[in-house]
Amino acid sequence: MKQLWNIHLKADSIWIKWVHHFYLQDTNIWTVPLQQTSSPIWKSFIKLRDRLLDDCGGQLAVISLLQSWVNTTKPFSANAYEYLRTKGIPISWVNMVCESWCLPRHSFILWLALLKRLRTRDRLYFVDIDVSCVFCQDHEESHNHLFFACSWTSLLWMKVKSWLRLSKGMTTINSAVWGLYLKGKTAVTRMKKVSLSIVVYLIWEERNRKVFKNSCSLVEPIFRRFQVLFHMILRFHQRDLPILNAN
Ligand SMILES: [Zn+2]
Repeated sequence: MKQLWNIHLKADSIWIKWVHHFYLQDTNIWTVPLQQTSSPIWKSFIKLRDRLLDDCGGQLAVISLLQSWVNTTKPFSANAYEYLRTKGIPISWVNMVCESWCLPRHSFILWLALLKRLRTRDRLYFVDIDVSCVFCQDHEESHNHLFFACSWTSLLWMKVKSWLRLSKGMTTINSAVWGLYLKGKTAVTRMKKVSLSIVVYLIWEERNRKVFKNSCSLVEPIFRRFQVLFHMILRFHQRDLPILNAN
């Protein structure tokens, strides 16, 4: 974490100068893309950077966060440790993944996605394969891209949010977990959490179908599958519910 900050500041060290010359050149640490040919250490820097950008919501927010660590009496490394230990996040994950209304296979895929443990193509750099996203063919396939930076998956997620009348941004899976971290056990709060698990599952299922069967996916049929699963789960738990009211 401290090295990321030093790279940002262009600190006076031979290694930082070498990084700027070899990896960054005309770009900067916040925007440089991950290259599969880069060294493992550099890849770990970029993955840490992506996590910060994902958590904070952008370059300026990350810089502001790191700057605040410099301005405290606490050592930078202590602040970084506190941050990386992520005391609060596992609670929200548990709340989301362990929602008893979620189907077990949906919870399992959501759990893997939150841990970034799905076998996305960026994690298969040791295999000589095309790493581009199967939906848009425009970016490298990664967890951040699939959930929900990709044009295809973000369209599906936007349709779901619109259908559920969710107004919050929730443009990443982590921000969605926080946005849907609702207290209470009403059918509405439960189904909002269930919805995220369904969407993540359907995206991963459709991604695998495209990879292994090379099928042509449209957003609309997947969205209808989401609605079917949503109604099925809701009706299973609320059998006397006459008409769906997602809000
Ligand atoms: Zn894509």
